[in-house]
Amino acid sequence: MILHRSFDTSNGHLTIDGLDAVELAKEFGTPAIFISEDAVRGMCRMYRDAFSKYFGEGASPIYAGKALCFKRLYEIMAEENMKADCVSSGELATANAAGFPMENAFFHGNNKTDFDLEYAVKLGVGHIVVDSFDELMALDEIAESVGVCQKILLRITPGIDPHTHKKIMTGNVDSKFGSAIVTGDAERIVRLALELEHVKLCGFHCHVGSQIFDIDPFRDAADIMLKFVRDMQEKCGYTAEILNLGGGFGVRYTEDDPEIDYEENIRLLAEEINGMCEKLGINRPHIHMEPGRSIVAAAGATLYTCGSVKELEGFRNYVSVDGGMTDNPRYTLYQSQYTFINASRASEEDDFECTIAGRCCESGDLLGEGVKIARPERGDIIAVLVTGAYNYSMASNYNRIPRPPVVMISDGKPYVAVRRESFDDLMKLEN
Ligand SMILES: *Cc1c(COP(=O)(O)O)cnc(C)c1O
Repeated sequence: MILHRSFDTSNGHLTIDGLDAVELAKEFGTPAIFISEDAVRGMCRMYRDAFSKYFGEGASPIYAGKALCFKRLYEIMAEENMKADCVSSGELATANAAGFPMENAFFHGNNKTDFDLEYAVKLGVGHIVVDSFDELMALDEIAESVGVCQKILLRITPGIDPHTHKKIMTGNVDSKFGSAIVTGDAERIVRLALELEHVKLCGFHCHVGSQIFDIDPFRDAADIMLKFVRDMQEKCGYTAEILNLGGGFGVRYTEDDPEIDYEENIRLLAEEINGMCEKLGINRPHIHMEPGRSIVAAAGATLYTCGSVKELEGFRNYVSVDGGMTDNPRYTLYQSQYTFINASRASEEDDFECTIAGRCCESGDLLGEGVKIARPERGDIIAVLVTGAYNYSMASNYNRIPRPPVVMISDGKPYVAVRRESFDDLMKLEN
C-alpha cells in the first residue's frame, strides 16, 4: 500500500489505497487495521510467479498464517493458489472454516498435543512438520488409529545465525525447535521416520529467522540442508522430495530499513541452490518457502485517534493514541520501529518529536519513541504504516480493551473482514 506518504492535496489528509484516511477513521472508528487486499494478492502472485520461474515445477510459496490469520485471508490464499503454514489447531480450524483445501496445509509447532495431531490428521492436513522424536512416535500411533498414512516433513535445525533479532532467532542448535544435524539427532529421526509405517517422510524443513534482507542466511541454510539431503541419500538410501527453507524475508518498516527486491532474491537463491545441487550430484528437491510477514506487512496500516498531547519541558512529548500494545505489541516486545504519520496533517512538516503512547496502564505500552510527526491535536488521526503482520495476530484484550476491526480494501472499496469486538464479546466466555 504505502510506505511513502500520499495525501490529498485539497485537505492534506493521508490516503490509504487512494482512500481518505480521516474519512476511513470516521466510517470504521479507531483504532482500526486496514489491509489492502490488492497488495496481499500482488505479493502472492509475485511469490508464485518467481517460484515457478526460478525453482521450477513442484516449488511452492506457503503463506505463514501466524503473521495475519482470519477466514477471509484464507479465502484469498485459496483463490491465489497459495499453500498455508498453520501453527496451531486454531489456525487449522480457521483455514478449514474458510474452505481452504487442507491438503495444501502444513502443520507446524514444537509441541503439538495429541489433540492437535489427531485433529490435523482427521482434517486431512497435507503435511505435518514433525518437530521431535516424541511427536513422531505419537503421530505414528494416531495416524494408525485414524487409519491413514500421514505425509510428514522433519524439522531440522541447520545451526546457523541469521544475524537478526535474538528473540526471533530460531535456526540455532540451542533451540526448542527441530532436530539438530550436528548432534546426530537429525539423522536418527530420519531413520526412525523411515521405519514407522503410518507416516510417509516427504522431506525436510528448516527456518532460520525473520526480517532477513538478503539471501545469505537462506543460502547458508540451503547449503547445510542440501548436504544433509545428500548424506541421507548415501547413508539411509532416502531421497528427500521436498526441501522447505522456511520464512523470513524482511520488510521495510521505516526508511532506515533497506529496500528489498524479493523476486531478485529468489532468482539469486535459485541460482545458488542449482549450483549446490549440481556440485553435490543430487537432484534438486522441490523448494518450498514460508513467507508470512513479507506477504501482509506492507499491505497494512493502523489508524488511531490522538488523545492527549503532553509536552514535558526538558524531557519529552507524549502523544497518546486510543490503541497501543493491545493491537500492536511489537514495540513493547522487540522495540520494533514503525513509520508514523499525522494523517490529518499529512502535507505538513514532520517537526514534532514525540513518544507515541498507548492507552494501557503500563508504562511500557508505547508504539514508538523519537518519532517525528506533524504537531498533533486531540482528535487528529494518527497512522502507523506497515502493520499488516504480527499486529492483529498478536492483539490481546489486556485492560479489557476490545480488539480493533480488520477492514480490507479491494479495488478502492473498504469492507469489514473482522468486526470490532464489543463489550459483550469481552464477556462472552464467562458463566
Ligand atoms: C514465523 C515463521 C514463518 C514466517 O516468518 P516471516 O518472518 O513472517 O516470513 C515461517 N515458517 C516458520 C516455521 C515460522 O516459525
